[in-house]
Amino acid sequence: MSKVALITGASRGIGKQIAITLAKEGFDIAVNYRSENSELQELEREIKSHNVEFIAVKGDVSVFEDTEKIVKEVIDKFGKIDVLVNNAGITKDTLLMRMKKEDFESVIDVNLIGTFNVTKNVIPYMMKARSGRIINISSVVGIAGNAGQTNYAASKAGIIGFTKSLAKEVGSRNILVNAVAPGFIQTDMTAVLKDEVKEKIAESIPLNRMGTVEDVANVVKFLASEESSYITGQVIHIDGGMLM
Ligand code: NAP
Repeated sequence: MSKVALITGASRGIGKQIAITLAKEGFDIAVNYRSENSELQELEREIKSHNVEFIAVKGDVSVFEDTEKIVKEVIDKFGKIDVLVNNAGITKDTLLMRMKKEDFESVIDVNLIGTFNVTKNVIPYMMKARSGRIINISSVVGIAGNAGQTNYAASKAGIIGFTKSLAKEVGSRNILVNAVAPGFIQTDMTAVLKDEVKEKIAESIPLNRMGTVEDVANVVKFLASEESSYITGQVIHIDGGMLM
């Protein structure tokens, strides 16, 4: 019986690539998305071409009732969730002096509370199965901080505390909980940066380049695999050596 992976916010960017990479490994794939886009149909075709099952479930991870529905739909279709990847995330960057309370709250709501909401609904099934993998997408910014991102950094640091605490709670049930901390990865999220800023960033990275979505998806693949069965509560940097 195939393993089942649920990836949140997977209609584009890193989440989409994680879905494709896990499909290539033989996982049946449940993709959560918030808004429709043309990439979603293309994603369905690509995933099905790997001879695995696919379901796309609409919902906003920051809304608890939505996450109840998302998880129920996936369970109704597949009967289980072996791997949960909490990937959905947003930025609303500005200096604290200019940041509105709503900008702080909405980033925490999606990135951190969204991670809680989905995990809270998935964990009973993993507890019952006495097995599971939860992989949370944090960021180097959650470790080092970044001017203009107090909201985002707080959400991503929160995810690290969440990951380590949950790893301690559910380890005895063979549920492994880890986080990855990507550096600067080429997606829509970083496409807004000016070219000179991107060049400066690349210069400051020992590997002299921004990361790709594949760089992140390959580490998630490892954390979802049997090969990582003695790793829990860790934060794996995927940043070309930016942070050491
Ligand atoms: P992206 O290209 O902006 O994609 C974000 C995805 O999350 C989109 O599919 C988006 O859906 C979805 N999403 C946003 N809010 C949602 C919500 N409330 N409910 C459900 N889905 C939602 O971003 P990305 O670069 O792939 O980032 C993916 C994750 O990696 C995020 O957690 C991000 O913080 C983290 N990360 C990224 C970088 C980087 O350099 N790119 C670095 C470190 C960490 P819509 O299409 O509906 O907006």
